[in-house]
Amino acid sequence: MKEAVENIRKLLTLLVKEDFKYFNRVKNPDKALLLYLGQIKPFVSGREKKFIEKVEGYLKEFDILSQEQKKRLMKELHTVFTLKFSTEEIERNLKERKERVVSNIRKSFFSLDKYPVKAFFQPVSTVKSLKPQNVKRLKKLGLETIYDVLFYLPYRYEDRTTVTPLNLLKDGETALVKGKVVNVLESKTKKGKKLLKAVIYDTHGKLTLLFLQPRIFGFYKKLFFQAKELDKEIIAYGRVRRSGLSFTMVHPEIEIYEPGRKFNKVGVILPVYHLSEGLKQNTVRRDIAAVVKNAVPRFPEYLPQDILKKRQLPDIAESIWNVHFPSGDVDALGEFKTPFQKRLIYDELFLFQLILAFLRKKMKKEKGIAFPVDEGMIEEFKKHLPFKLTSAQEKVLFEIVADMRKDEPMNRLVQGDVGSGKTVVAAASAFFAVKSGYQVAVMAPTEILANQHFKKFKEFLFPFGIKVGILTGSMTQKEKNTMLKAIQSGYFDVVVGTHALIQDKVEFKNLGLVIIDEQHRFGVKQRAELKNKGRQPDFLVMTATPIPRTLALTAYGDLDISIIDELPAGRKPVKTKIVFDDEIDKVVSFLKKELEKEHRVYVVYPLVEESEKMELKAATEMYHFWREKLKGFQVGLLHGKMKQEEKDKVMEKFKEGEYQVLVSTTVIEVGVDVPEATVMVIEHAERFGLAQLHQLRGRVGRSDRPSYCFLVTKRTVGEDAIKRLKILESTNDGFKVAEADLAFRGPGELTGTRQSGVGEFKIADLRRDFEILKKAREDAFELIEKNPELSGLENLKELLNYKIPDGIDLVGVG
Ligand code: ADP
Ligand code: MG
Repeated sequence: MKEAVENIRKLLTLLVKEDFKYFNRVKNPDKALLLYLGQIKPFVSGREKKFIEKVEGYLKEFDILSQEQKKRLMKELHTVFTLKFSTEEIERNLKERKERVVSNIRKSFFSLDKYPVKAFFQPVSTVKSLKPQNVKRLKKLGLETIYDVLFYLPYRYEDRTTVTPLNLLKDGETALVKGKVVNVLESKTKKGKKLLKAVIYDTHGKLTLLFLQPRIFGFYKKLFFQAKELDKEIIAYGRVRRSGLSFTMVHPEIEIYEPGRKFNKVGVILPVYHLSEGLKQNTVRRDIAAVVKNAVPRFPEYLPQDILKKRQLPDIAESIWNVHFPSGDVDALGEFKTPFQKRLIYDELFLFQLILAFLRKKMKKEKGIAFPVDEGMIEEFKKHLPFKLTSAQEKVLFEIVADMRKDEPMNRLVQGDVGSGKTVVAAASAFFAVKSGYQVAVMAPTEILANQHFKKFKEFLFPFGIKVGILTGSMTQKEKNTMLKAIQSGYFDVVVGTHALIQDKVEFKNLGLVIIDEQHRFGVKQRAELKNKGRQPDFLVMTATPIPRTLALTAYGDLDISIIDELPAGRKPVKTKIVFDDEIDKVVSFLKKELEKEHRVYVVYPLVEESEKMELKAATEMYHFWREKLKGFQVGLLHGKMKQEEKDKVMEKFKEGEYQVLVSTTVIEVGVDVPEATVMVIEHAERFGLAQLHQLRGRVGRSDRPSYCFLVTKRTVGEDAIKRLKILESTNDGFKVAEADLAFRGPGELTGTRQSGVGEFKIADLRRDFEILKKAREDAFELIEKNPELSGLENLKELLNYKIPDGIDLVGVG
């Protein structure tokens, strides 16, 4: 709209420029002006509308004017459009018009009696206007209930409100065009592939529409011939490609233009939904629209009135409606900034925070163990350490001890960069628990890590005669049974194992503390399940993933957080360098020098979502490449298709120094500790997220030896990728890396919370919506404080029960 006014101004300026110097070079300026005016007209009223109609009248008779008259007209128009014509007024009218439409809808739709929210948890098949095939399609998208469909939100919008003149098309842009068909023909490419081409034109230029699938030729040929016969324009919507001087649209959406007809492809903003295989956007759009139209008017408001008022949020039914049937400001829609979108974003975050607030309240209410930890115990532990704790470790230990002493269950997250020394702190807590007469469970995400923790805990706890046991999947059933018995009888004080094993199988005699490593693979739900085993042990969660503030409020919103923000003395930052793959020989000679000093080297080659065959091929090729290049040194290979035991064996050999080089196509397990390793080579570094690269880099630099990380990439990789990698070159600070990563990628990927279903929002985007998140969190926690039973908020209660993941039992809800 604004654009149309801008276009008019530009055109007129060109025409009158330098005393009409270019006047004769512009062909048919009248046609172009008429087109633009037509775009403005629906948005104006009163004086401006009259003016436009008058101008249109002149322009329609443009051809019969003399050259002088034409120039005078243009000059006058130029003055009016540059000086007087106000876009503000148009915009105001636009807004008023929209408000009128909305208020009409409100009158007819939203004043109907509401149903309880429970009614919307019924299967979609209960919507009368849906046929079984529609229901089947929605099921394919994972949408079972009416509620699911209403909240299956578009992820973007297509702007079909403005027609682009054919001379203004740009390569790569998606555009809506209108024109008459001049020519339709079938032909073949040089390779013999069949094509259908139709050429359309408007007053400014022409465009080729191209179709490549013979089975649809018939349909389109008929449509084009029909348009030609009736002398009607067609509308096409699609992506524009430029080849040489001409433009093409491949497989556009097509429709014959009928002025004034409703629901055609012009003048609307269309929602775009995520699809699953075999589904088409148009049909999905129709199915969803049918449910929305049927159900939304009856959808009840569930948020407390005072929150709606305080945050100035629009009604929920209206918001759902507007997100599926948008109108108005396309730019705001695209940025998810309309009031209706904001309402839905707020709701998603609010409901999640409400669940966290419940969990927290429930945990605080339960009686936990008050461990009698005293100064003597702390001193005793420290006395047997081979090093002095850093002040950050001291601070965190102090926070843990304070929690353990309370008779509320501890729920604390210890966050610390790789190598910051979280394990010692965890071992100290284990020591306190055992000294107080309780057992401790230590849970690791993988078997390799479980083994490593087993060794470390044994080392730290050995001086005190504490019995540490391990339970792994690779043990025989007999060994497992013996262990399980020994744990149940209380023989072992500390038991290390993988999450799954300890969670499912183990009965403790007297469990007092659970230590979980790498929280990000262990969600809110799993933690709740462990608690439901009937006891209330303390929880200590360790993570090396530096979690930016935004995420800490969501994924970990129910935990207290301690941060170890300092590395043990003497650690040197890992020197990081981007190298291009054609410089690999320089890296090779550097590696040789390091290997000669008896240092060890990792080479990682990421395979992101490729087939098994590819993985094996790439792995073996890589392996041979490096064995060739590093002759005289022992090279081991680790790849994703190996069994866990094989992987462990290779890892073990690398740890012991039998292999000096480890080539790996899988990401080397987080947390693996080989102090002799000083070089990390990461091939195709651009394929990794920054946080992941930082984790990988953390595998080296685990001693006082200087360490190095090479990020290998292609020269052709692009500016953005290099910019990203440069962040790693410039800092070793995991928090800075994580913040930068968050800016580049989605939060789910960063914390790995995607697997656990936490932090994965449908419409909220934590980067964009941090301000809304803060408000939603404040409101949710306040509501639970004020009204823990949610009395008087039946719909909200129902909704929470519906949304809560299985396994979490919220006292006071439902
Ligand atoms: P994280 O688990 O945080 O990555 P670790 O606990 O594995 O780190 O510690 C890394 C290494 O540093 C281990 O070998 C550990 O024994 C050692 N370490 C831990 N704390 C200190 C300290 N205060 N001073 C010296 N070395 C330490
Ligand atoms: Mg306690």
